Amino acid sequence: MGLDYDDQNIFARILRGEIPNDTVAENEHALAFRDIAPKSPSHVLVIPKGKYVSFDDFAANAPVEEIAGFMRLCAEVIAKEGVGLDGGRGFRAITNAGPDGVQEVPHFHLHIMGGRMMGPMVS
Ligand code: 5GP
Repeated sequence: MGLDYDDQNIFARILRGEIPNDTVAENEHALAFRDIAPKSPSHVLVIPKGKYVSFDDFAANAPVEEIAGFMRLCAEVIAKEGVGLDGGRGFRAITNAGPDGVQEVPHFHLHIMGGRMMGPMVS
């Protein structure tokens, strides 16, 4: 593991089952659940089960099997939500990191958002 990880962050507590979540999909390496304050009709967060603070931490330090498991769960979510290009209208996948990225929860997560046309990317 790379960066210092806060075991009390809200997603760590969700992974430990201390806080309920609306699960969309799960595998050995990752969990996907609905954002509590959705910004689009479909707004799912995908998180690795390992302790990674941010995208750069995960990309640099996670074992490849965990990265693969995470990516496959993202694909499952996109298919389940019907937003993939195989029949759907598309989606936006973003991750915020650190102060400049305005990251609120310090456990790496990918936002998968769809169901409406997105606005400009930077605000
Ligand atoms: P960030 O700004 O860190 O990229 O996004 C954090 C996201 O987590 C926000 O979209 C926020 O609505 C969501 N969130 C914060 N607390 C909870 C929670 O307890 N449960 C769920 N499902 N989502 C949460």
